[in-house]
Amino acid sequence: MGSLENCPRCGRLFVKGIRSICQTCHQDIEKKFQLVYTFIRKRENREATMMEVVEATGVSEADITRFIKEGRLHLSQLPNITYPCELCGKGIRSGRICEGCHHGIQDDLEAQEREKEREKKAEDERQNRYRTYHSLQDRLK
Ligand SMILES: [Zn+2]
Ligand SMILES: [Zn+2]
Repeated sequence: MGSLENCPRCGRLFVKGIRSICQTCHQDIEKKFQLVYTFIRKRENREATMMEVVEATGVSEADITRFIKEGRLHLSQLPNITYPCELCGKGIRSGRICEGCHHGIQDDLEAQEREKEREKKAEDERQNRYRTYHSLQDRLK
């Protein structure tokens, strides 16, 4: 049995089952998907941009973006549609973040790694000095 939860989309209480949103929202989203799908299936609309699809269907960019990320809309046949990068909002056509942000994150990770390396080396040196000091002491005994 599903548990009673608030729908993350509309806030109404619903029994959570296989879907993470309530029945009303599910139907609403399906209706929107059909609108978008019907629109972009027409040959004359294949060149449409995201904004044009939003205007023509009344479906929000966020919902259309979700359809793309869920793999329900394929951009291979829609050369002019992009959706926003999750970090900077730049238009992208695959994944969740743009090339620039991807490299940015990579750089951050590398910087963190370098920082860790540096700390480890400093710690090793401290240990070495300590050992040297003690072996000297031993020798002097
Ligand atoms: Zn709902
Ligand atoms: Zn970005």
